[in-house]
Amino acid sequence: MKIFQNFSLRKHNTFGFDVSCKHYAEVENENEIEQLLSRQEFINSPKLIIGGGSNILFTKDFDGLIINQTSSKIIISSEDEKYAYVSAEAGVIWHELVLFCINNNLGGIENLSLIPGKVGAAPIQNIGAYGQELCNVFFSLSAIHLDDLSGAKFDINECEFGYRDSIFKRKLKNKFVITEVTLRLHKNPKLITSYGTIEAELSKQKKDTLTIKDVSDVICNIRMNKLPDPKIIGNAGSFFKNPEITNEKFELLKSMYKDLPGYKVSNHFMKIPAGWMIEKCGFKGKRFGNVGVHEKQALVIVNYGDGKPEEVLQLKNKIIGEVIAKFDIELHEEVNII
Ligand SMILES: Cc1cc2nc3c(=O)[nH]c(=O)nc-3n(C[C@H](O)[C@H](O)[C@H](O)COP(=O)(O)OP(=O)(O)OC[C@H]3O[C@@H](n4cnc5c(N)ncnc54)[C@H](O)[C@@H]3O)c2cc1C
Repeated sequence: MKIFQNFSLRKHNTFGFDVSCKHYAEVENENEIEQLLSRQEFINSPKLIIGGGSNILFTKDFDGLIINQTSSKIIISSEDEKYAYVSAEAGVIWHELVLFCINNNLGGIENLSLIPGKVGAAPIQNIGAYGQELCNVFFSLSAIHLDDLSGAKFDINECEFGYRDSIFKRKLKNKFVITEVTLRLHKNPKLITSYGTIEAELSKQKKDTLTIKDVSDVICNIRMNKLPDPKIIGNAGSFFKNPEITNEKFELLKSMYKDLPGYKVSNHFMKIPAGWMIEKCGFKGKRFGNVGVHEKQALVIVNYGDGKPEEVLQLKNKIIGEVIAKFDIELHEEVNII
């Protein structure tokens, strides 16, 4: 276990903001987490678990203990005729788990290729991309309660997953450290290719048989072309969630904006892309001081290098205000604001 005092988080948040925390601990396993949390000095201090810091906006220094896990084991814990159950420790880089599954021809998370961050954070917002969400392959997770150090296991129902949402963003926010995640993956993968341009890109390859690796490669290419690389330009991916609106509201907007995109989510609700509305409000590619809205993806707020967290807060509030004024729809943040 390594513990640091007054530690800079600049390299631990993908916005690249130079905030710091009072204590920062790197822990390798559950024993170390228990030892750390039992220390008298940390019993009453505020605590935050982080992984890659790719879904966090730190608005100020954190006056407490930040815990990051460096555990790295991935195993196939069991299998039956149809499924393999893959368990990965929380410190595993998410894309490494994707590659492990692809190499073992286990289907289900290839569409989630290249999402930054670590495995432990994946259930928090039920990560999703290109027509797939974690909850569709999730089996269970192990966690430790931050107060009484009791161990717990959560199955899919207990996680209460929703769109970029889980119980860990609501009732159990900051209550548990997730230590391991188990996924149920298909031994005979069915490819999910209907989303966006995946199918068009795959057909360019003119292959008779497509594999999960082909799908992953296409998605990696699309992502690398469309999304800013946090190593080059600070960002935390989509800043806002895509709002769900009633069918009536959708029809009303459609009569005003013929090009309004929408996806049915239930008999009564449609989801519309927040990025489309932000673009219609004229934000796409616009710079405000040291921060701005990405030129290729209006959902992404970027830090050009010398930005400050307050500038991101001001910009996100400006966006929310203008979207309400134009569409009468309130956007909600996907990023965790600390
Ligand atoms: C360029 C870019 C593209 C992205 N694309 C996508 C995308 O397509 N789909 C998508 O869903 N997300 C996307 N994201 C967001 C982000 O990558 C995911 O939310 C990811 O799961 C965050 O992982 P992390 O380890 O960085 O978590 P962090 O940002 O470190 O933490 C996120 C939240 O989880 C909590 N947390 C982290 N680890 C644990 C743990 N072990 N136990 C308990 N709580 C924990 C933190 O306290 C925090 O509240 C993108 C981000 C970027 C920068």
